[in-house]
Amino acid sequence: QTIGEMLDAAVAAHPDREALVECARGRRWTFAQLREQVDRLALGLLTLGIQKGDRVGIWAPNCAEWVFTQYATARIGAILVNVNPAYRTSEVEYVIRQSGMRLMVSATSFRTTDYAGMLAEIGFDDVVFIGTPQWGDLLERGRTGDPAALDECAATLTFDQAINIQYTSGTTGFPKGATLSHHNILNNGYFVGEGLGYTEQDRVCVPVPLYHCFGMVMGVLGGHSHGSCVVLPAPVFDAEQTLEAVHRERCTSLYGVPTMFIAELAHPRFDEFDLTSLRTGVMAGSPCPVEVMERVIERMHMPEVAICYGMTETSPVSTMTSRNDDVQARTQTIGTVMPFVEVKVIDGEGLVVRRGVPGEFCTRGYSVMLGYWDDPERTAEAIDAGRWMHTGDIATMDADGRLNIVGRTKDMILRGGENIYPREIEEFLYRHPDVGDVQVIGVPDERYGEEIMAWIVMRPGAEPLTVAAIREYSTGRLAHFKIPRYVHIVDGFPMTVTGKVRKVEMREMARDILG
Ligand code: ATP
Ligand code: MG
Repeated sequence: QTIGEMLDAAVAAHPDREALVECARGRRWTFAQLREQVDRLALGLLTLGIQKGDRVGIWAPNCAEWVFTQYATARIGAILVNVNPAYRTSEVEYVIRQSGMRLMVSATSFRTTDYAGMLAEIGFDDVVFIGTPQWGDLLERGRTGDPAALDECAATLTFDQAINIQYTSGTTGFPKGATLSHHNILNNGYFVGEGLGYTEQDRVCVPVPLYHCFGMVMGVLGGHSHGSCVVLPAPVFDAEQTLEAVHRERCTSLYGVPTMFIAELAHPRFDEFDLTSLRTGVMAGSPCPVEVMERVIERMHMPEVAICYGMTETSPVSTMTSRNDDVQARTQTIGTVMPFVEVKVIDGEGLVVRRGVPGEFCTRGYSVMLGYWDDPERTAEAIDAGRWMHTGDIATMDADGRLNIVGRTKDMILRGGENIYPREIEEFLYRHPDVGDVQVIGVPDERYGEEIMAWIVMRPGAEPLTVAAIREYSTGRLAHFKIPRYVHIVDGFPMTVTGKVRKVEMREMARDILG
């Protein structure tokens, strides 16, 4: 099935059910109305000369037009290039050039971000700006064009062709363009939705960015492939607007990275919102502190919330917890392998390790990307001859086949010959009553190779913790070699827009801080 065929099937099954809600402007579409918008845009793009395989960028915060563009490009087999709304000129220029972009769909501006100005500065003018007369013209072309052109085009599509380039978050370095097919992302969205038990009754709140697979695959495709409605609370993440959207739209499912749930739970007006419509949701993207998970389950009424693990390169989800898992399984593992996906955990020699022993997480199956766009070298580094994707994440698998991520190969701290996983220390320090949030990194050290540094955000009103205080708190509870040597009190961490902590940047900053 192609993504266009999925949309057709959804329209055939329930044309008048609500498919999309954009809270910011109070706009809503049924499945039939959604397809009408999509087809107009798709035909409009065809009449502009966009063909199968052409790269069409989208650079805008979350909005309904984002979703229309996602479907319209898939419908004509153009390759959607997701451009991170937080990118600035040098990054956008890179993506435009790297992908060989023919056309960009963009917002003119949003808050302080002047998309139009930046595109003008780069000198890229093959742009259609959403909401301008130019956008109206494009839809008008679609309305008056010959619909047969669309059907002819659809007939040439195959499920395994490239239709999407998603750049990775850039957590560990420069973003790479994962190239994905209908088959990759549609199946992945479908199985995530199935794992969450979605039906036509569900309303999925998507505050995560659409430009990332979390939003466009797990949110839009995951919801629509089961007939569920997708609710966009705000153009960019906002805790209050998210809570408000759940409340007003009676959402049954809520997505987020852990930092978003932390912000929602801490919101001063939290208690004013009725969240009892919630049943499930997804927490993914980075490790979640146990305590946060417990509060999400109880205070946000999400007993079935799932932990998903994955990466852009694998469409994205590889493992997921199940609806019936107990809190234990859901707080301490990333669940079990998704249907029709294989997983193995290997050592440095490429041999499968024993259960419980940490090793590199590798995965194979329909979900593995076609490759990195125009980068055979890095593709070959990531995907081996047997089609196994090497994730760069360190995991363990227990006797029941449940997996756990213990860190990234790049974040592992090597101190005096010991492998130290920052996650373990973070979990430990997080339990300190004065600690609001914490991240642990390795910093270069002459004697031990690396030393441990903890960055701590204090809880409101708490006195800053000193190294001595941390040492005292940790002694007797944490092995001596895991006790941080340096403590740095901060207001926040450097983040990617997907809400992930950029430890690479922290390590660079630490160099300056420590002199
Ligand atoms: P880059 O590859 O550019 O450095 P990135 O790996 O952060 O960035 P993504 O593809 O967005 O880009 O994120 C995938 C990574 O996120 C995984 O490889 C893993 O390290 C982390 N991750 C995702 N889900 C989880 C989870 N549930 N628990 C722990 N880590 C997770
Ligand atoms: Mg990655």
